[in-house]
Amino acid sequence: MFPNFDYVQPNSLQAAITHLSDPAAVVHAGGTDLLGCLREHIFAVKKVVSISALKELHGITESVDGGLRIGALTTLRAVGEDPLVRRRFSSLAQAAAEVASPQLRNQGTIGGNICQKPRCWYYRGDFTCLRKGGGTCFAADGENQFHCIFGGGGTCFIVHPSDTAPILVALNAAARVAGPKGVREVLLEKFYVLPEVDVRRETVLEPQEIVTEICIPPPASGTRSAYRKVRARRSWDFALAGVGLVLRFDGRRVAAGRVVLSGAAPVPWRSAEVEQAILGKELNAAVIAAAAKAVVAGAEPLAKNGYKLPLFQGVIDEELTRMSASA
Ligand SMILES: Cc1cc2nc3c(=O)[nH]c(=O)nc-3n(C[C@H](O)[C@H](O)[C@H](O)COP(=O)(O)OP(=O)(O)OC[C@H]3O[C@@H](n4cnc5c(N)ncnc54)[C@H](O)[C@@H]3O)c2cc1C
Repeated sequence: MFPNFDYVQPNSLQAAITHLSDPAAVVHAGGTDLLGCLREHIFAVKKVVSISALKELHGITESVDGGLRIGALTTLRAVGEDPLVRRRFSSLAQAAAEVASPQLRNQGTIGGNICQKPRCWYYRGDFTCLRKGGGTCFAADGENQFHCIFGGGGTCFIVHPSDTAPILVALNAAARVAGPKGVREVLLEKFYVLPEVDVRRETVLEPQEIVTEICIPPPASGTRSAYRKVRARRSWDFALAGVGLVLRFDGRRVAAGRVVLSGAAPVPWRSAEVEQAILGKELNAAVIAAAAKAVVAGAEPLAKNGYKLPLFQGVIDEELTRMSASA
């Protein structure tokens, strides 16, 4: 059952920010995630602030430096189908097309995708877990087959749910954020908060702040990128394991690389171990095998998610093999 709340649809960004000064107010974009949270009473909400009338938050444009600016209200379908995104940042188009189902991609926005709440069934269910202000993480000794293998820090074992965030981190994208103190840009790599830092929040967004745009820098020449998602079902499902890869090749050697795992940690998880294993090298069978081994270095699987280790190894093996073939 839904709680009672006021609903406002302001016509200006400033008015939306002002409405959000109510501590029990929340941003509503496409609503595909938020409405479920309201129905399940995951957090107390008194006012829903729809940002859908803010025209300046829609659309995709090429920036003067050859990068891309994507308005936060751009739907995932539009991101996945946009010719510019497909030509210049095909891995992002690929990630957007992997989200949920066609209906949800028609309605869900990229801003909502990177800000969505975790999917842990204890958090979403009738449990007052740590993230909801309780004293226990029920996943630690519970049904933890879909939980994290990195970054739980003995605190909270959610996995970050977004498919677009890992590849956006790999592309070194930033979120443009507007709030009562003005506008700031936050690298997506610094946008997410680990449970050991603050178990009650997922992002660095301050009260009243709204993501207005995602800014992706132009790719250097010789760059190739990909997003790979493994899920339990071919219909809609969240990632069990996945990777966003952005590699710059100098001839056949990897001159620079950003490798970000999805389904692995409470935040999009940059794998320094894989990056180190491939940097300066040709992606031959030995290097790929070493990188596949490295991806699970330091992993801390829980009782029921040990299967994720070989899954990540296989994903890295296959994706690097695919990249080496096209290098
Ligand atoms: C059945 C189902 C399957 C799904 N499968 C996937 C999947 O496979 N992969 C995946 O990545 N996601 C999945 N999702 C999650 C979700 O639908 C998408 O992430 C979607 O992109 C959310 O966007 P939205 O505009 O609907 O966000 P909303 O529901 O409107 O908002 C989501 C959250 O973000 C906040 N928010 C929204 N926009 C902004 C903004 N501009 N600034 C600040 N805060 C903001 C809201 O306050 C809310 O807390 C699934 C959801 C469902 C219901």
